[in-house]
Amino acid sequence: MSFTASQLPLLGGRLSVDFVNATPPNAELSWERLIHFLESTDIVSAERGAQLLTLPQSAAEALLLKSRRLGYALRKAFAAMLRKQKMAREWIDPVNEILRITEGHDELVGQDGAWKIEFIAREGGLDWLLAAVARSGAEIIAEGARARLRLCANPHCGLFFYDNSRTRRRRWCSMAVCGNRSKVAAFARKHASARNTP
Ligand SMILES: [Zn+2]
Repeated sequence: MSFTASQLPLLGGRLSVDFVNATPPNAELSWERLIHFLESTDIVSAERGAQLLTLPQSAAEALLLKSRRLGYALRKAFAAMLRKQKMAREWIDPVNEILRITEGHDELVGQDGAWKIEFIAREGGLDWLLAAVARSGAEIIAEGARARLRLCANPHCGLFFYDNSRTRRRRWCSMAVCGNRSKVAAFARKHASARNTP
C-alpha cells in the first residue's frame, strides 16, 4: 500500500497500530499529519484540529517531538513482538511517559442519541492528545505473546495490523489493496505457467 499525503491507512484494528502505520518507516511524522490522524480517529473534532494547526511552532514542537518518540518506540516494540524478541526499556519509557502525564478518568458522553466513553484528562496541555494512543500501545505490549499483532503479508507493504478476525488468519492489511494485488499476481503467474506448459 502506498502512502499519500492525505490518506491515512486506518486499517490496523487498534488505535496504536494505526498510529504507527501513520508514519512510514524512515520518515518523520509531520505536524499536519499528526493533526490529520487525531481528526481521522475522532480524538479531536475537525474544529479543534483546525485550531491546533494554527498553533505557533513553539507550542506545537513539544507535542510533535513526543508523538514522534512514541511512534518510533511503538514501531520498535511491535516489530520486536513479531520477531519474539525481548522488549527494550527504551521503547517502554516513551509509552509510560505519556501514561504518566495523562492522568484522568473515563466518562460517558452523550452524542447524537448514543453514549460513548470519553477520556477526560486531569491536566490541560496537549499531551492528553496522545493518551489514548499510549494506552492502546501499552495494552498490546502487555498482551505479550497473546497479542494478535501481524505484519501485512505483502513484503512491499510494511503495515501492521491487529488480527480481530474470527478465524485469526487475516494475512493482509487490506483485502482490497494488498490481498487483491497478491491474488492478481498469483493468477498471472498461474496463467503464465499454464501458457508455457507444452
Ligand atoms: Zn498491506
